[in-house]
This record gives sequence, structure tokens and C-alpha cells, in this order.
Amino acid sequence: MNVAVVGASSSGLYTSILLKRKHPDWGVFVFDRNTRPGRKLCATGNGHCNVLNRDLSANYFNNVPFMETMVEKYPYSRLEETLHSWGILTFSMGSLVYPLTYSATAYTTFLYNYAMSLGVVFQFSENVDSYEADKQITLYTETGKRKFDKVIFATGGKSQKSLGSDGSMFDVFEQHGYHTTSLFPGLCPIKVSERVKPLSGLRHKAKVSAYANGNLIYEETGEVLFKADGLSGIAIFNAQRVISRLSGAPKVTIFLDLFPDYSVADLNKLFEIARKANPGMFLDAIMEKPWKQYLFGSFEIVDESELSSLAKRLKNLSFHYAGSYGFEFSQVTLGGVPLSDLDEHFAGKKEKNVIFVGETLDIDGKCGGYNLSWCLMSALQVVEGL
Ligand SMILES: Cc1cc2nc3c(=O)[nH]c(=O)nc-3n(C[C@H](O)[C@H](O)[C@H](O)COP(=O)(O)OP(=O)(O)OC[C@H]3O[C@@H](n4cnc5c(N)ncnc54)[C@H](O)[C@@H]3O)c2cc1C
Repeated sequence: MNVAVVGASSSGLYTSILLKRKHPDWGVFVFDRNTRPGRKLCATGNGHCNVLNRDLSANYFNNVPFMETMVEKYPYSRLEETLHSWGILTFSMGSLVYPLTYSATAYTTFLYNYAMSLGVVFQFSENVDSYEADKQITLYTETGKRKFDKVIFATGGKSQKSLGSDGSMFDVFEQHGYHTTSLFPGLCPIKVSERVKPLSGLRHKAKVSAYANGNLIYEETGEVLFKADGLSGIAIFNAQRVISRLSGAPKVTIFLDLFPDYSVADLNKLFEIARKANPGMFLDAIMEKPWKQYLFGSFEIVDESELSSLAKRLKNLSFHYAGSYGFEFSQVTLGGVPLSDLDEHFAGKKEKNVIFVGETLDIDGKCGGYNLSWCLMSALQVVEGL
């Protein structure tokens, strides 16, 4: 049996290792258009690779009913055990799990070298343009055509195309009758209508609350990064992922509570103490200088009425959503090949020897190791069926 895996990043590496461990006598050939494996994997977790999350719940993914069955079958312990059985050591920071090397590059290199040691054959700089499905599957690349018994597409979505996946394969899948769902950028910074340029570069802990037409749709506390025309940070990414899926273009407002651990009354008391102690400098003890310009339009003079409402304002800053930063800045693509076109092991209902894994499928998770968890879960599910 000869199997081709198209895509040598997270899910392609996981799948090829699992496959070769299960069937050492099968030929497993991995193709990638990039010149080296796992370019996106190397960029994960700010270069540290947040590989899993101990708090694995279906609620952190789209398609919750389907993910409930997957999480029951592949709970965190099973995913961790799988990596451990390959010799990969991990550690956790809170619920976030990283490789012990704390290096996405070292993790990628480990997977690649381990796959090669098992006998997986890699071919880089090989772009798969199309395929034909008959008794065998013919892959067409720029250098010619190759026949395989099965093909597994681990070609990702269309986020950050400089790292390899540009979404072009979805056109090919559509030509074969797959009903690719609409694609949206997920987990990315957002643009806001307000003029936040003075805050550009600042970071602040905040409770982020996103409302659509007045209804709360997402809430999370985390560090918010201010950009020249928008907001970023994990809580914002997660809110954006929810906003992206809203239909009917509702009016979306993001509220930031910059002091979620204090009530307005507590903050007022604290401000009063600081003001009495040092009237000329108390604002500098509360916030970085650019905030003064943003809130009061000036660095210096602040009148009494503005000061009395300061605590309330800092706990309820509102920003109007004006779009996302797009696929080029998104960590994951929302949408993909729908599960309804596939059997339980993600093989085409009409093309039994064409299989899909990872981000190519219409499953995505929030920030925190959930998308790489999905890559591993889906690879386990694919290989179970082979
Ligand atoms: C900056 C960044 C940080 C992230 N951090 C995390 C994190 O810490 N934790 C987490 O869980 N998730 C994280 N993610 C998300 C995670 O990286 C992805 O969900 C995951 O890599 C998807 O894996 P994949 O193998 O399915 O697809 P991809 O990683 O996109 O890989 C697809 C591969 O297929 C190749 N390919 C595509 N089309 C073709 C073709 N026609 N011919 C040949 N080759 C082709 C591409 O070159 C690519 O190598 C992050 C994403 C980004 C962008």
C-alpha cells in the first residue's frame, strides 16, 4: 500500500508518523510545496509551540456536538500519551502544554526526524496542483504525476500564506464535489473605528466583552495589545473568532474593562488616596502617558469632571468593530471541507481513497493549543480507519 500525504506541517507530520508506526510496511510519501517541513508549526506559540491544552473541551471548538464525540474518544490524556509514546516530553504552564524544549523549531525537527527514522519519505518544493481519483489516486505536481493507493490532504486553510497554505486546494476539492464552506480568518487582530493611534504599542490587562446588536457574545480577561488602528491579544483573537461567524453583519462593540479586579468604588478610593498624596503626578501612577492623550485629548490639563468619571471610563471603554486584519494575520481558517461530505474517518463519501486531516476540515478551536490538539485528534481518527 502506497499512501501520499500532501502537507508536511502539523497534521501531515502527525499523520505520517501514526501511519508508519501502524503499518511499517506501507510506503508513506509526504509532499510539501515549501522547502522545509512545518513552516507554520515553527511559528506557533510565539516560537514555543503551545502543542496541547490540559483543559480540552468540545466547547472550545466549532461544531460542539461532533467535538464532544471526539473529545470523549481522544481526551487530553490520550493526546499526551500519544506524544509521550513517540518520546516527546511536555510541560505545562497553567493548562497550556508545551514541548519540554519550549521550542517550536526543535519540536518540528523532532517530528520530522522521527518520521524519517520510521521510513517516511519527504519531498519538498513539490506543489500538488490537482488529482484524479479512480481505483488509484493520481497526484499532479509541477514535476509530473504520481499514483498512490490513498491520498491524505493535510494542506491546511488559507491563513498566513507565506507559511505555505493559501487555500488554493479548496478549489481543487470543490472540483471534486466537496462543498467547502465559506472561509473566514479566525484568531486575528481587529480594526476599530476609534482613533487608537495614540495607544499604539501599549499593552494592558483587560476584561474583553464583545456585544453584537447589544447581546453579549464573548467575554474573556487577558492582555490587550493596542495597534495603530485596532486591538490584538489572545482575548481579542478569541472574540474575533466568534465575531467572524456572526451572520447578517450585526453592529459589534468591544468593551474593555482595564481594571477587572476592582470595582468603580474601589478604584475611586484608590485614585483619591494617590491624588491626595501627590496631586501633580497621580495620573502617572494609574496609566501610561498615551492614555491621557487618548482619554482627555491632552497630556496635561484634566478638569475635575473628567477626573471624577475616570474610574468608570477605565472600566468601560468602548470600541466599534470595523473588521478583522484578514487571513494574512489570522492563526486559523474558519470553514473548510465539511464533515457531511466525509465518512467517520474523514475519507470522501464518494472518493473512498481521498482523506482529509487537520485545518483543511471545517473544525477550528480557540487560542491555547486547541488547533494543534485538533491536528493530532484528526490524525488519530484518520489513521484508526486505515
Ligand atoms: C502564527 C501562528 C501561531 C499559532 N500558534 C498556535 C499554537 O501555539 N497552538 C495551536 O494549537 N495552534 C496554533 N496555530 C494554529 C496552527 O498552527 C494550525 O492550526 C496548524 O498548523 C494547522 O496544521 P495543518 O497541518 O492542518 O495545516 P498547515 O500548518 O497550514 O500546513 C499545511 C501544509 O500544506 C502545505 N501545502 C498546502 N497546499 C499544498 C499543495 N497544493 N501542495 C503541496 N503542499 C501544500 C503547506 O505548505 C503547509 O506546509 C498558530 C498559527 C499561526 C499562524
